[in-house]
Amino acid sequence: MKGGNKMSSTGDKIGQVYFVGAGPGAVDLITVRGKNLLEKADCVIYAGSLVNPEILSYVPSVCRIYNSAIMTLEEVLVVMCREYKKGSRVIRLHTGDPSVYGAIREQMDALRQAGIPFSIVPGVSSFCAAAAAAQLEYTLPGVSQSVIITRMQGRTPVPDKQQIQDYVEHGATLVIFLSSHMLRELQSVLLKSGMAADMPAMIVYKASWPEEKVLSCTVQTLADTGEKEEIHHTALIVIGRVLLDGYERSLLYHPNFSHHFRKGKKGEKDYD
Ligand code: SAH
Repeated sequence: MKGGNKMSSTGDKIGQVYFVGAGPGAVDLITVRGKNLLEKADCVIYAGSLVNPEILSYVPSVCRIYNSAIMTLEEVLVVMCREYKKGSRVIRLHTGDPSVYGAIREQMDALRQAGIPFSIVPGVSSFCAAAAAAQLEYTLPGVSQSVIITRMQGRTPVPDKQQIQDYVEHGATLVIFLSSHMLRELQSVLLKSGMAADMPAMIVYKASWPEEKVLSCTVQTLADTGEKEEIHHTALIVIGRVLLDGYERSLLYHPNFSHHFRKGKKGEKDYD
């Protein structure tokens, strides 16, 4: 990845596509690897609806920049193929981490079919930035050891048994993407499915951006809270008992607990 573009045995530049996670918004929350690639990019196709445009300040002045928010998949692929043939280093810049609601599978499949090599550079997903903004741990012993990343059904359908109501009984921490424009519907589904009205909830708007907001509420007050603060996009909703105070301390750091790297005071298996 260091140096210029790869060269073929005949000295021609060999193109390559990189899917890069831009992180949640703050320009310094892209990975070092992602930034290094942007600094050497010949072409960037960025998800303009969510990627902070300031991140584009990392790219060379001669870099060709496309905003995928106004493009179809087919148009994105045409640019990728054309640039690849020229031997360009193409960066497909996705918000957060590309693997979460990034629509990269269809791009990867098309690139594979066209014989265009690609690799992926992960990014800090917004759900991690939201936890950081709220100073929150999603997985607390005795409370929740699972995190469910999901969304409300919108124009994109959600398969059977994966609707919000299917997760209410689990008691896991819920992190709900792509749904801040549907808070009233979300609240109603949660309450109808038996979630306690006083279950704690949180709306995290634009985590890591200067305009970030962290709003604490309950399931009962979720929609009113969002409406009052005019939150309709770029927010995550976190729901679960990890937002309350109680939890058990971790075994990993308990003085009596032995593991691979540390011998507990009382030896193996005698944690109490
Ligand atoms: N791949 C991205 C998610 C893309 S889907 C990731 O890993 O974060 C777009 C949704 O992500 C938005 O509707 C919103 O729910 C959430 N989102 C993206 N950036 C956000 C941010 N900075 N703060 C809160 N939510 C964000």
